[in-house]
Order: sequence, then structure tokens, then C-alpha cells
Amino acid sequence: MLPAGGRGERFGGKLPKQFIRLQGETVLHRSIALFESLNAVHDIVVVAPARYVKRVQQIVRRDGFRKVSRVAAGGRERQESVWNGLNAFSRRPDIVLVHDAVRPFVTGGLVRKIIRQVIRYRATVVATRINDTVKVEGPAGFLTRTLERKHLWTVQTPQGFHYALLLDAHKAARRAGFVGTDEASLVERLGVPVRIVEGNERNLKITTRNDLELAKLFLKQGFHTR
Ligand code: C5P
Repeated sequence: MLPAGGRGERFGGKLPKQFIRLQGETVLHRSIALFESLNAVHDIVVVAPARYVKRVQQIVRRDGFRKVSRVAAGGRERQESVWNGLNAFSRRPDIVLVHDAVRPFVTGGLVRKIIRQVIRYRATVVATRINDTVKVEGPAGFLTRTLERKHLWTVQTPQGFHYALLLDAHKAARRAGFVGTDEASLVERLGVPVRIVEGNERNLKITTRNDLELAKLFLKQGFHTR
């Protein structure tokens, strides 16, 4: 599933970042194309902002993406968009990968690794080790604590799960009014350990203007997603 339901408010500008073109192709097209090309992927659900659903359906048809079975409408929060996406599968899969549409540089190798691990461990995320030192804010404007870096990771997507587990985790979160910024946080609440697959910083999430410049640079260098 490719959540692309964000409205790009942090980015500024009118066009959400998933619809921006990089060397002739939109960020969303690039993300769909990678998953479409993988044998292990059978069914793709794209989640788009409600007012872009028709447009995305047209793009999917025009670009000949045959594995995209549904374009679902996104919600206010990312979690709601993923929930809508989960419920849009016409046939419920055994395994579902959730991947931010705004990370067009994910590689086939990384996706295959996630699939292998999720079969075994039920819940798996791509993550990278932290290079900076992370501190906790106390009273406004002051830091009070330093976290032990050797145990810290920043997580990316894809995040992969047994479909039934992710659905249960979403139901539990909805009942409790819990809103997380990724899928793994919902699964962790159920006490299920989440397996780490070490990724790399090339799997950039295009969030800011600066990220967009980086993305252009990657493409200029001839980045390959295999
Ligand atoms: O907002 P964030 O940077 O976490 O967005 C990550 C991905 O989730 C993006 O691909 C974005 O389009 C998607 N998203 C969504 N629905 C929202 C917010 C974000 O599908 N309400």
C-alpha cells in the first residue's frame, strides 16, 4: 500500500509533494513503478487525498499500472489514510507492506528483504542508526536528558506486517484513540516485537524543499532502484 494522502502542508506550495515531477516523472509514479516491477507484489492500493482520487485513477490507467487495484481516499492523519487503504483491498492479502509514496528511492533489494523478514517475524521495518545525539526537552527552551544513542534508530518505510496483525493493531489504536506516526507504533502497543531491517539514507522521504533538491541530485547521479 502506498499512502499518498498527504496534503503537503509542511512543504508549502499548492501541489502536494507526491505529485511533483522529478526528471519528467512524478514522485508517486516513481514509487508505484518500483512496486509494480516486483514479482513478489501482486496488488497495490494507493491512498490519495480525497480531491485527487479521480486524478490518480486516471494517472494509474494512463501509465498502465496493472497491479493497482484501488485508489482509496485519504484521511486527516496518515494513520487514517492507512486504515482506509487497509480496508480497500478487495481480496485481503496475507502480508501487507506500507510504503510512503514520498520515498521514491526505495530499492527492490530492500523490499525483498522486508518481505523475507516479515514472513518470519510478522512485523518488520526499515530503519537506520542515528548519527546525531538525541536529547529530551524539559521546560520550554531547555534540554534535560540524553538518550543512549546505541539503542536508537530512525525508522523509514517500507514497514511490513501480516495483514491480520496490522488490521488488529489499527482497530485497537482506534478504540483507544491512539494516533501514531507510523504503523509499527500501533503494533508495538500490542506487545509484538518489530524486526529491524537496516536501510540507508538514500531512502529519502521528500518532506522539505531541501529534500527535493537532494532527490534531484540523486537522479542526476543516476540512482538505480533495483
Ligand atoms: O506526513 P508524513 O510525512 O508522515 O507522510 C508520509 C506519507 O504519508 C506521504 O506519502 C503522505 O502522502 C502520506 N500521508 C497520507 N495521509 C495523510 C498524511 C500523510 O497518506 N493524512
